[in-house]
Amino acid sequence: MTITSMQPTPPSPGRETDSTLAASDGAPATFRSAKEAFLSGATAPLAWRRQQLEQVVTMLTENADLIRDAVVEDLGKHPSEAHLTEVASVVREAQHLLKHLKRWTRDRRVRTPLTIGTGRGWIQRQPLGAVLVIGAWNYPIHLSLMPVIGALAAGNAVVLKPSEVAPASSRMLAELTPRYLDTSAVHVVEGGVDETTALLDQPWDHVFYTGNGKVGSIVMEAAAKHLTPVTLELGGKSPAWVDGTASLEKAARAIVWGKFTNAGQTCVAPDYVLTTRDVAAELAQNLTAALEDSYGPDPRQSPDYSRIVSSHHAERLAGLLDSGTAGRTVTGGAVDVDARYVAPTILLDVDPEAAVMQEEIFGPILPIVIVDDLDAGLAFINARPKPLSLYVFTGSRVVRDAFSKRTSSGSMVFNHVVVHLLASELPFGGVGGSGMGSYHGEHSIRTFSHERAVFRKGRAFDPTRLVRPPFNAAKSRFLASGPAMRLLAGSKPAAD
Ligand code: NAD
Repeated sequence: MTITSMQPTPPSPGRETDSTLAASDGAPATFRSAKEAFLSGATAPLAWRRQQLEQVVTMLTENADLIRDAVVEDLGKHPSEAHLTEVASVVREAQHLLKHLKRWTRDRRVRTPLTIGTGRGWIQRQPLGAVLVIGAWNYPIHLSLMPVIGALAAGNAVVLKPSEVAPASSRMLAELTPRYLDTSAVHVVEGGVDETTALLDQPWDHVFYTGNGKVGSIVMEAAAKHLTPVTLELGGKSPAWVDGTASLEKAARAIVWGKFTNAGQTCVAPDYVLTTRDVAAELAQNLTAALEDSYGPDPRQSPDYSRIVSSHHAERLAGLLDSGTAGRTVTGGAVDVDARYVAPTILLDVDPEAAVMQEEIFGPILPIVIVDDLDAGLAFINARPKPLSLYVFTGSRVVRDAFSKRTSSGSMVFNHVVVHLLASELPFGGVGGSGMGSYHGEHSIRTFSHERAVFRKGRAFDPTRLVRPPFNAAKSRFLASGPAMRLLAGSKPAAD
């Protein structure tokens, strides 16, 4: 077995990257290299984990401009937004993990019952081994590195496959990572379906996938062959309920921000608005006003408005708008496929059967669907796959309670959108069709660890003596007796 170096490689821009190594040696070699690094024990010490997290911070801060430029090239977003979402947010998470690393990874003592004898019980958070992280394109650096730093903090070796749909960001990750992180334990493999399929053939200890649900089931099927556990960070249609007791102006500002940032290419963006007829027209006016406040009268000229990642996706969005039953266009509607531009678009009174309501939009189109009342709104949501996020704008406690008790979703936010994912204390993930598992902060440590149950027997009394064969008359009498029943039903915790 190779005993690998714990030292990160010093920066050397001309150096061959690990992606080149992976391309020539193939997925099995990359897997083996990560697995060997893990089995060598190099990734377990807290000192190594800390060093890797600190190196991620250094990598991001020293190369913030390059990273920002790559994201701007891929998604045409404003550089400040790119910095905030791709660099600052990951630095913040790495620092948060560093701050709490010792506490989150230490053994947790538990009280054990006298029925198993005197001794000590504890839960040991163990790294899983070699972890595959498959990233998505919409926040190409963030969605790749956030799981990677969680996996490293938990003491794993990691292979990252960034999304080929954001090629400049993917290249940037493949170039920078081996210059800063331990090259034996952290690899970046670039590529698309073929490369991902080859990687998925390997017996990983965990696969963490971000992307759409169709590929999610391919990932799960491949992982099932090796009984590899998966985390699936998927998407879907996240609704925003707005009723007449909410401030329509504030609701509109929040929804416009969450929906049109990154031109709607955000997994937790409100996908559609659900409201009642008495509120719908006024809400549409407020949404239009909020849109103009953010992007001016011609969003195409706004430096703050992103482009669609590819002409393929721009064409897909044009198809949704052309489908006919998509309600009245309140604002927007223009598409320039070659320029990857789709105008921020608000559609009022959209038919639930419209194409735009059959799939996750993942673009800057906001349908407003009208329902009769709260019950109809709840039924509408519950008749569809469980959303990744659910947003509820209301001033009514009864409505809040109804959404809490009668719906299920990965997360729920009252009177705002999207901000929950910035709180590392809250688990980020889906349920049902929107995914399985979660991460961020301590939730990442849980996801990338196995919680091993450990019991160390003390020297004193061993009650299993009483239940060992042969069962003679005395033992049988004792086991049927009151004291034995009480002991089995719930005895006092043992002391060592
Ligand atoms: P994508 O096209 O980048 O695909 C994601 C990854 O899957 C890529 O690395 C890609 O190489 C790989 N892949 C694609 N086809 C594959 C195949 N046939 N076999 C194996 N691997 C394959 O991203 P996408 O799926 O277009 O991303 C958008 C979706 O992701 C949306 O549904 C969005 O809501 C969801 N999303 C979820 C989150 C979250 O955190 N829950 C975040 C971002 C995006």
